[in-house]
Amino acid sequence: MMFQVLSSRFQDLFRRLRGEGKLEERHITGGIRDLRRALLEADVNLRVVQVFLRNVKERAMGEKLTESWTPVRKLQAIVQDELVNLLSGKNMALKIPSSKGGVILLVGLQGAGKTATAAKLGRYICRQGRNAVTVCADTRRPAARQQLEKLSEKAGVRFFSPSRAGEGLHPKEICREAVAEARNGQGGVVILDTAGRLHVDSHLMAELKEIRDTVHPDEVLFVADAMTGQDVVRSSQAFQEEIGLSGVVLTKMDGDARGGAALSIVSVTGIPIKFIGTGEGKDDLDVFSPERMAARILGMGDLQGFLEKVESTIGGEPARVSNPDFDLEQVRRQLRKLRKAGPIQRLIEMLPGVNFPGDVSGSNDQLRETLAILDSMTPGERNRPDIMNGDRRRRVARGSGTRVETVNRFLKQFAQIRKFMRRMPGGKMPGTWKKALKTSTR
Ligand code: GDP
Ligand code: MG
Repeated sequence: MMFQVLSSRFQDLFRRLRGEGKLEERHITGGIRDLRRALLEADVNLRVVQVFLRNVKERAMGEKLTESWTPVRKLQAIVQDELVNLLSGKNMALKIPSSKGGVILLVGLQGAGKTATAAKLGRYICRQGRNAVTVCADTRRPAARQQLEKLSEKAGVRFFSPSRAGEGLHPKEICREAVAEARNGQGGVVILDTAGRLHVDSHLMAELKEIRDTVHPDEVLFVADAMTGQDVVRSSQAFQEEIGLSGVVLTKMDGDARGGAALSIVSVTGIPIKFIGTGEGKDDLDVFSPERMAARILGMGDLQGFLEKVESTIGGEPARVSNPDFDLEQVRRQLRKLRKAGPIQRLIEMLPGVNFPGDVSGSNDQLRETLAILDSMTPGERNRPDIMNGDRRRRVARGSGTRVETVNRFLKQFAQIRKFMRRMPGGKMPGTWKKALKTSTR
């Protein structure tokens, strides 16, 4: 999972600091040194690391952490807030005209995930209640067209066929025809999938410029493979200079990339990340949220993202984490659906704490154990987990074939999550959290 190493470094640090009780300046200085090492190890741009840590340090000093009763929590909130800043760009929402039409041009290097993204994006737009059509502007590889056609079909998105099939047609002519067709009749957002190269080269840039000047896209999205780390930053700068970009789609966030690309690209290039790719499936595209990503990096999991994923995989209303009645009954319902849904590894990784009881390498055993615990509880206990005293815990452990410690750990984590969720709208958390909550509960 992406950010795994970085995330565990951050968590180790805060755990260690909590052990210190009162924070002294040397603890903060030492902590910042650890953060620097962790960020550089994650392949984050050096300049970005410097600015980030300077901001963290200034605020840590400004808020007089050394005199605070809850210094570590405050420091964590500062780091979280600065991570959100680092990941936030201007104009993060997809900008397509609300009338019929709209053109999205996808550009990037070969293998970055443009074709996969084209189909997923089409599906995303259709789910928003609009029409979309995918267009293959890669005339170099004969297989490119078939690949996009097949993926579009799977994703339930219309695929554009030019009137003069293939031969000798310049990519910009195909694009022109597709856009004209959409404007004149069919309507819908036109998604242009272009050819890539192994490296940035002038032929590719010339071709892309021609397409750009022919169709005047509303969005030019740079599709980038997050696994390639710092290289992404460099190539995005080249595309930005030559073509001009309005956003980034970071793909393969499900891989074990260290996170450098995601954490560097916005502040180095000024281009916002708009979507992230999280797998090869047709639904594996998420609207990018700096708040969620920061929460994941800090090991707080992504409960809302998790519930939405369950919803989009299985259907049904997702539970709302902001719901003050959020209880174990809801957790159980979601987990049961999840078990039916099949591949669960990635979903489990999104769970809060990323340490839902025990280690979450996302095994089915884990899920089964958690469900067994939940099943051994009475509905009343699930509704009001606070009544779980020692006797009840022992009974549940026996009933579920687990140990009391496992039950305790599970209940404790749940209590923490719920406390955290309830606090969010209350005004104690940084402003960005309130915003995150608002957008995530729309
Ligand atoms: P293109 O050359 O830029 O069009 O890249 P493709 O769309 O053909 O993708 C290259 C490979 O990456 C394919 O095998 C895709 O299935 C895979 N891929 C694309 N996006 C993702 C993603 O978000 N996660 C994972 N795991 N694989 C992806
Ligand atoms: Mg392609």
